[in-house]
Amino acid sequence: MMSDAQEDKSAASELDFSPDALLILGRDGTICRANSAAERLFGRTREELVGSDHRILLADGFLEAIVWEYDVLRKSPDPVLGSPPIEPVCLRGDGSEFPAEIICSLLPAPQQPTPSGNAAPSLAVSVRDATYRKVGNALAEEASQLRAMAFQDQLTGLANRQLFNDQLAQAMRRPRHTAVDVILLDLDDFKEVNDIHGHQAGDQMLIETARRLRSCVRPNDTVGRLGGDEFVVLLTNVADPAAVAERIMETLNVPVNIGGAHLKPSLSLGLASMSETTMEPSDLLRQADVAMYAAKAGGKNRYVRFRPEMLQVLAQRNDMEARLRVAVLHGEVKVQYQPVVATGSGREVQLEALARWERDGEFIPPGQFIPMAERSGLISDLGNSVMARACVELQPWLAEDKSRSLSFNVSGGQLHERDFADVALRIASSCKVDPGQLVLEVTESVFLDPGSQVIDQLKHLRRERMRVALDDFGTGYSSLGRLQDLPVDSVKIDGSFVSMVRTGAEKLPLLSSMVTMAHALNLSVTAEGIETPAQAEYLMDLGCDFLQGYLFSRPVSDNRLDMAMTRAETAMESVRGLRVGGRR
Ligand code: C2E
Ligand code: MG
Ligand code: MG
Repeated sequence: MMSDAQEDKSAASELDFSPDALLILGRDGTICRANSAAERLFGRTREELVGSDHRILLADGFLEAIVWEYDVLRKSPDPVLGSPPIEPVCLRGDGSEFPAEIICSLLPAPQQPTPSGNAAPSLAVSVRDATYRKVGNALAEEASQLRAMAFQDQLTGLANRQLFNDQLAQAMRRPRHTAVDVILLDLDDFKEVNDIHGHQAGDQMLIETARRLRSCVRPNDTVGRLGGDEFVVLLTNVADPAAVAERIMETLNVPVNIGGAHLKPSLSLGLASMSETTMEPSDLLRQADVAMYAAKAGGKNRYVRFRPEMLQVLAQRNDMEARLRVAVLHGEVKVQYQPVVATGSGREVQLEALARWERDGEFIPPGQFIPMAERSGLISDLGNSVMARACVELQPWLAEDKSRSLSFNVSGGQLHERDFADVALRIASSCKVDPGQLVLEVTESVFLDPGSQVIDQLKHLRRERMRVALDDFGTGYSSLGRLQDLPVDSVKIDGSFVSMVRTGAEKLPLLSSMVTMAHALNLSVTAEGIETPAQAEYLMDLGCDFLQGYLFSRPVSDNRLDMAMTRAETAMESVRGLRVGGRR
């Protein structure tokens, strides 16, 4: 077929000037010539190479690669230009393999047939080791993936905070953008979706939110996820951004089917628009945030457009938070106590400790500063300081009679602290208060996160004889049926149910089934917010064990406790008298 192999067996040739390994193959695939780069690349001497079948250089699976090229090239209109690179795996003399890049071109047939009578064209084969290129490609791909990851939210594929900030900065710099608007939105009560339906459901909700958001804007508008359940949209040159905000509200409010459950996303949305006075991207984002906060404060599931007056509200909020921090640090949060009286003949009395914060001579209601303390991470310090102060103030009162008890309100944020139980027990012991006389009031929401150690902490404290009451009973998410699984000793029926009793003639089956159910589970029942004798009688008739409310006493400071107790007892006596008097 081709030139005589022997003639080139050891000769150096012009092929040696090529940095690439070069082989000349005959039509039957015998190696006729090889350069020194080929010797180095394949780890074989020229003597070994020349005269051998080229397939000794190819790994199994690639044996046909070059033969096939030869045929393709012969049929090609311009065979000398060579084939596109092929990438077989090659074999070295020591048996090791390496990825190669091979380009074949057909050499013209010799004018004169060789002595062996072969006038077929031969094949020039240029071989490169592709190991480094392959590694390089893999690295480049990884780098580009990393780059994408650096700017993309992994769960939803939306822009992440950094990319969004860059896009916003660019948009605000560009003079041709007459309008730049930012929409910031946050899913309301998303934590509950996670807690009740699981994190997977939560993720699905976020992915669906991202999809719907994208469908509400133009393809080139940037939609980002800033983290958690917070999303952001950048609009440029949109004439009516409020219409986009409304569209987002409508689209997102449609229920999502997650694992068979229909969940209706609710969202709070803030809209802010660039003006001459908004200089920085961070200002615009902050304005959207302030508007979003106003939407939440205004009752959630709504959108609010930023107005400059809102900044004042924000400043006040920050100021209040800073002052609360100082007050907690300096032990300035005081405690008042409200009696809880027994309906039966027993003399057990309980006091509920309620935090009081006086700022500039004015009492701030706990309904305001407790959520603030929870948001700003102050709640544990605040809760511990209330517990410590109450234990100190009431130690003598508790020590006087073992049937007396003292209850505290405990927020979820406190129970999530790993050392909550230890700290509570330490406070009791250092104040010489029997843990058996202490009650922790928790709300149902603390039980929603099944993965947390809340239940373990409460069980631990119950082993140490502290008791647990389920506060605001009836207002939570869980069904009455869940009650039996919770580590609690009593329930406190929320005042909102009690306030449904006006004349005392009402039929309130929910209220009576709450009492029956709790009793069936051996839990004692307190009714909160009793303001009228009619309410007291009604709840006593239902079988409530304890009553609490302004009818008996308002919360008072420790120096007025005796008076409050007497008043509460008297009020209780008069309610008992009414019932004995047969009015009902
Ligand atoms: P809560 O634990 O359900 O406390 C009962 C609330 O009802 C108290 O409000 C009490 O003053 C009020 N109340 C009592 N009787 C009546 C009544 O007859 N009518 C009406 N309308 N209200 C009555 P307060 O002191 O404003 O506390 C509100 C909430 O703040 C508490 O609700 C509790 O959830 C929380 N809180 C109070 N102190 C603390 C604390 O130290 N730590 C924590 N984590 N939360 C606290
Ligand atoms: Mg309470
Ligand atoms: Mg309550």
